Amino acid sequence: MKLGDLEFHVISDGDVWLDGGAMFGVIPKPLWERKAPPDARNRIQLALNCLLIRTAGKTVLVETGCGTKMPPKLKQIYGLGESRLLGELQKFDLHATEIDIVINTHLHFDHCGGNTRLEADKIVPTFPNAKYVVQRGEFEHACNPTERDQASYFTENFAPIEGCKKFALLESDRAIAPGVELVRVPGHTANMQCVKLTGGDKTAFFFADLIPTAAHLPLPWIMGYDLYPMTTLENKKKWIPEVAKEGWLALFGHDPHTKAAYLREKDGAFTAEPVTLD
Ligand SMILES: [Zn+2]
Repeated sequence: MKLGDLEFHVISDGDVWLDGGAMFGVIPKPLWERKAPPDARNRIQLALNCLLIRTAGKTVLVETGCGTKMPPKLKQIYGLGESRLLGELQKFDLHATEIDIVINTHLHFDHCGGNTRLEADKIVPTFPNAKYVVQRGEFEHACNPTERDQASYFTENFAPIEGCKKFALLESDRAIAPGVELVRVPGHTANMQCVKLTGGDKTAFFFADLIPTAAHLPLPWIMGYDLYPMTTLENKKKWIPEVAKEGWLALFGHDPHTKAAYLREKDGAFTAEPVTLD
């Protein structure tokens, strides 16, 4: 997909299976199971969508999926297969050493697990020549999570990056490459960031965990994982109409079927019109 001189592709690290009830918060199962049928353990299939961006000679990766370090027990709980990210990059003739910038929307393990990898007995950055970009508040929280969300943060995904000074910790919204803008959108966590891509009068907006799948477009469909669900609600009220009105392409971080869509409004409700990306 091209936006002027900027080129991007949605690639995936594979699938993760999470509890359907947790994914849809207060929404009753008879409603959500029609959109996302659960397996025998009440889990639903979610994708680990990442973005590969090429702009002005820079190669940028947004999100790194669950990566290769997950313990077998957790792989089983979350239904994880083998990490696919590096293989997906290879399809574009790219090696991990060629990534210039890695963006983490936040530091939950399903968004930054591929930041690092095990080499012999040492955890090292998977992308040795990259600057990794995250909001400073998210990094600080990841280092000191609460009892409620500590199961989502694994220090081996981010401490080694900070240890070798490869993090750029942002204090607010920031353009980090031509056509690549990071927008702080709190709710899921206090300092999650979305990614806005622009070029040639066109825009694409990566919702990250503000709207993880197209099924999460209706306003009350908010994840039980969100630390600040009322802030998520406010930000959904702000960003969904904006993306629809401006005709931006919506990109979903966890949707296994609809990776990209245009948003259409009808009688105040928004639906996704899927787009197949090349
Ligand atoms: Zn998350």
